[in-house]
Amino acid sequence: MLLIGSHVGFKKDTQLLGSLEEALSYGANTFMFYTGAPQNTMRYKIDNALTNQALEIMNEKNIDYSKVIVHAPYIVNLANADNLEKYNFAINFLKSELARCEELGIRNLVLHPGSHVGCGIDDGIKNIANGLNQILGNTNVTILLETMAGKGSEVGSKLEEIASIIELVEDKEHLGVCLDTCHLSDAGYDIVNFDSFLETFDKLIGLDKIKCIHINDSKNEVGAHKDRHENIGFGHIGFETLINIIYNEKLENVPKILETPYVDRLYPPYKYEIAMIKNKIFDKELLTKIRNN
Ligand code: FE
Ligand code: FE
Ligand code: ZN
Repeated sequence: MLLIGSHVGFKKDTQLLGSLEEALSYGANTFMFYTGAPQNTMRYKIDNALTNQALEIMNEKNIDYSKVIVHAPYIVNLANADNLEKYNFAINFLKSELARCEELGIRNLVLHPGSHVGCGIDDGIKNIANGLNQILGNTNVTILLETMAGKGSEVGSKLEEIASIIELVEDKEHLGVCLDTCHLSDAGYDIVNFDSFLETFDKLIGLDKIKCIHINDSKNEVGAHKDRHENIGFGHIGFETLINIIYNEKLENVPKILETPYVDRLYPPYKYEIAMIKNKIFDKELLTKIRNN
């Protein structure tokens, strides 16, 4: 069965219940959220009553909660340890984020590997692995390293870099990978021939490590290293390639999460994009329809 959803909000007053309701309003059967704002580390106390209400509804609707994803805020950076205070803050924050996931019963936490900001890719990889060795080891949550676009000094735009991090981490059982189609394309990977990409991935890392896929089109051409997401079918990757990836049978049980931009920064596109993905027919008027609705 296709597991499709999008990034949704997580608000102080409604928490997991609000996130679930937003996902259901899009026709999704899975979802991803940040436990607070993606760009800061301010976090609310988890309200167990709201969590339990959400769990009950998911049970009724046959939503597999073990596949629901939390995304760590993108400002925490494990790749640079020049400023030890900042590095330790990132480690401690991620420990508390794992505890929050455990409290919510969430099993998957997506993490950007980080940016080395000048210390070089090799040290960047070591810093990330060191950090993960302090964070993992005593958790039920799996951290999913996201493949990156290679913007600035980002680590993890090459599969070899992700493989090196995994190699250095002890608790490999709790380490996985999240693919992002926009990032893969921006990093220079040919995802038109997705099966041959998966073969390469399998050799370097192992297909069983893929626990989530972010489905995004890209505003830029292959290899652009820009990381600007576009609505499904409206960018340089295109509808056909994305549909091929979404319906690839090797990834059938992996949740597919849309992180496409709001239309005119106002209207969430997910209900429409999910319907279009289920139809498998590109609607070139989609954005206009969203605007006019
Ligand atoms: Fe991400
Ligand atoms: Fe992503
Ligand atoms: Zn991105």
